[in-house]
Amino acid sequence: MKVYLDNSATTREFDEVRELIYEMTGSFYANPSSLHSMGLEAEKHLKTARKKVALGFNADEEEIFFTSCGTEASNMAIFGVAEAKKRRGRRIISSAVEHPAVLEPLKKLEGLGYDVVRIGADKECRPDMEALRSAINENTILISVMAVNNEVGTIMPIKEIGEMKSAYNAANGTDIVFHTDAVQGLGKLPLDSKGGLRNVDLITGSAHKLHGPKGVGALYVRKGLRLPPLLSGGGQERGLRSGTENVAGISGFGLATELCMLNLNARAEKMTFLRNRLRDGIVSELKDIRINSPEDGICSILNVSFTGARGEVILHELETSGIFVSTGSACSSNKNRKSGSHVLNAMKLSKKEIDGAIRFSLSEFNTAEEIDYTVSKVKEAVERFRRLGSFR
Ligand code: PLP
Repeated sequence: MKVYLDNSATTREFDEVRELIYEMTGSFYANPSSLHSMGLEAEKHLKTARKKVALGFNADEEEIFFTSCGTEASNMAIFGVAEAKKRRGRRIISSAVEHPAVLEPLKKLEGLGYDVVRIGADKECRPDMEALRSAINENTILISVMAVNNEVGTIMPIKEIGEMKSAYNAANGTDIVFHTDAVQGLGKLPLDSKGGLRNVDLITGSAHKLHGPKGVGALYVRKGLRLPPLLSGGGQERGLRSGTENVAGISGFGLATELCMLNLNARAEKMTFLRNRLRDGIVSELKDIRINSPEDGICSILNVSFTGARGEVILHELETSGIFVSTGSACSSNKNRKSGSHVLNAMKLSKKEIDGAIRFSLSEFNTAEEIDYTVSKVKEAVERFRRLGSFR
């Protein structure tokens, strides 16, 4: 049996998405900026995709800008705001548990003299809201806090942070911008830019986390907010992101978003059922574990620490049974080798808990049978290593 439980790293494309991309690359390969009819046809597909991706943010199509990935979208947001507002202030507030796509640009800006404040997290990875509130001052230009943590699945209080930002702006005449990396939320949570997220100005999404293709991302930019571009050139994407658009990939992103949004509740219900079955199975079969994902976290992620065993060893042992999991974020697995996950460290887990952590991440393609098989193989692997283990 092959059980893919690494859907937070990337997902399998929907069959419909794969077929559409194949058709697009074969038939609609013209440059959407070309003036001839083939170019216009490609441009029409781009427009259709933009409308569909906008559904994921409940946004208007003019608020969606395509990029080459989620990382680029977040870089565009962060460096863009830093550049646009550098004369007004230098303070940027973020959290200690962001993805490297946000952490690294902030580190770079810090090196250039920006004052970056990283808010700590509690044992469930929620940001310290009082610390956040008191960090906001008249020099603040940007707040960047992710919507869903990619390692443990905590859903962050984005609505509240947005309200806090807008209240501060209204009381002080400032223009602080709020960005959220919603790569793990898009297609699983309603990201309502006109409702709950109406105080969020910039939102990052990525196609490959919702059964779309790799190498396609989007930045939602609230109407009226102007950003300088990261890439300059031919002026595509209304000047914000030059470079010929990946029409086929973007169309795949559009269809994937549409399919996810159409079935949002049913998909979330299925994943919640599977995640709870996995969690309850592990809890009833094994002692000395810590469930690192909060009860009300995203339906797709379950992070568990198996104290007395090493996550990386469990991962490889599970692989021999056809089960594919991860020890944390795929993007930082090399960097984190020594100190362990920066997210679990920020949550103040013990060294043993950090060393023994495994992230299971699900999609609607998983089945109850796969989950039961995984529970039995996890039990075998952990018990075996604990028996062998010098490590306890
Ligand atoms: N942000 C989060 C929270 C992620 O989980 C990821 C991917 O792992 C990214 C950003 C990066 O997205 P992309 O791979 O499209 O650059």
